[in-house]
Amino acid sequence: MLQRSSHEKFMRKAIETAETASKKGHHPFAVVVVNGTGKIIWRDHNKVKTTMDPTAHAEINSIRKLSKKLKTLNLKGLTFYSTTEPCPVCFTAMNNSQISAVYFGASAHPTQFLPLSAKKLAKYAKKYPIKVVGGILEKECLEQRERLWRR
Ligand SMILES: [Zn+2]
Repeated sequence: MLQRSSHEKFMRKAIETAETASKKGHHPFAVVVVNGTGKIIWRDHNKVKTTMDPTAHAEINSIRKLSKKLKTLNLKGLTFYSTTEPCPVCFTAMNNSQISAVYFGASAHPTQFLPLSAKKLAKYAKKYPIKVVGGILEKECLEQRERLWRR
């Protein structure tokens, strides 16, 4: 079991990744993926604008790359750190991939997505239970999103 300080350390890496992505013209949403031994194995960010793909969210991009890299559709044991609460599409993809846990910073924007929070969806994830914890460096993640997100 990781300490809260570890969760914050990984979230800081995700915030850094979002900051760098934003400077390159991407939306400021990022993910850091950590394996069962607490090692960062992947970082990614939203690429919707550059790929003209509305599903190119940080979580989806990570799942696509990691499945290919690790040659498996089962990503059990991996933990995602998302700067913003995963949307329903990303949550479903993470659950299908058997991701073990997701820690997020800021809650989803209240007007942005369907009213299906990751926390609510996790209650239905009976086949592949997924731990969902929000509020990791929430203020920093929210400040970053409000400062950098331009649609
Ligand atoms: Zn998403």
